[in-house]
Amino acid sequence: MNASSLQMKLSYKNKVFSKAQKFNRKHKALAFLGIAYAFMAITLYDILFYFYRSGKRYICLACILLFFVFSSSFSYPAMSLNISFASDVSIAGYSSDTDEALSGVEVAESDAELAVSQDVDSELIKEAMESGNPDVTEADHLDPDKQVSLSQILEATDGGITTNWTDDKSKVDLSALGFTHFDSSDWKIMLVNKQHPIPEDYDFPLGTISGSMKCDERIIAPLLEMMRAANDSGVNLIICSPYRDRSRQTMLFNNKIDRYMDGGMNYMDAYNLASQAVTVPGSSEHQVGLAIDIITDGYSSLDEGFGNTAAGKWLADNSYKFGFILRYPAGKENITSIEFEPWHFRYVGVDAATVIHENGICLEEFWNTYVD
Ligand SMILES: [Zn+2]
Repeated sequence: MNASSLQMKLSYKNKVFSKAQKFNRKHKALAFLGIAYAFMAITLYDILFYFYRSGKRYICLACILLFFVFSSSFSYPAMSLNISFASDVSIAGYSSDTDEALSGVEVAESDAELAVSQDVDSELIKEAMESGNPDVTEADHLDPDKQVSLSQILEATDGGITTNWTDDKSKVDLSALGFTHFDSSDWKIMLVNKQHPIPEDYDFPLGTISGSMKCDERIIAPLLEMMRAANDSGVNLIICSPYRDRSRQTMLFNNKIDRYMDGGMNYMDAYNLASQAVTVPGSSEHQVGLAIDIITDGYSSLDEGFGNTAAGKWLADNSYKFGFILRYPAGKENITSIEFEPWHFRYVGVDAATVIHENGICLEEFWNTYVD
């Protein structure tokens, strides 16, 4: 270091010190600020000074690096649409079995380049696209053994079923108290979707609605109460495909992947296609027993038309009084990522259902605004 630059450095440091001292004399209580300022200013100066003095060295280094960047054959692999599903894999991976997830991610990485231009069986793609909504593909709504109406439930229990359900709505007006927040750990409002998979250790009491039809035991009473009220209004609700267990979901999903891979697809394409035809394991509300699909006399298709039936209309207007919400409303598809499903109802409890119904929001929006 030559004498003049040493001089420059010393005078700068003196300046900084005298400034800091002046500040500290004026504001004794804030002395730490002055010290911090001096420390920062000097450190920064030292670093810049070092770079300034070693300038030539760094320019050389940068030139060498630039030379490698421009002359080497290294380039990014071409990105195709397939790549975007790598993120789906990691989301699903986070959700479901770790092995499955890891293998998915590994394949995603190693096959990323190969996936770009592999030929896929167009018949399989057509089939997957036509199968449409996973909720419909997986539901057993056409099997009479997997449907049950209130009268059948009453008959099966010899009319002796008692629900003794008293609605769980708070008796105080929460909004009047300025309290409209819900506890995120409350099982009733649990958010389940592709981005919020069911935790591995989630446990709940499984109860029987009728025969092999099950759901979370805690929602049977409000469900029956709702069916009773609908009946009183001349509407017959028929419950179908409530709880679907995870192993069945995983099996359905893996079978689809195997089938597509047998058809000549790579894992990524097969995974992508399978996730359109069936639900990615761990992301369906039916797996936690809180969702039920509902049809009615003379209308057993799970499609938009159900919304125009007397049952569909009655449910849209009244289900919240029993703690159920229309989970995938029309107009919220970009938030829920699920098309309008007027038949799919989800229990969230009367308080949350009332807030959701009154504000015309979906569960995802409810979480954004009302859940801590
Ligand atoms: Zn459903």
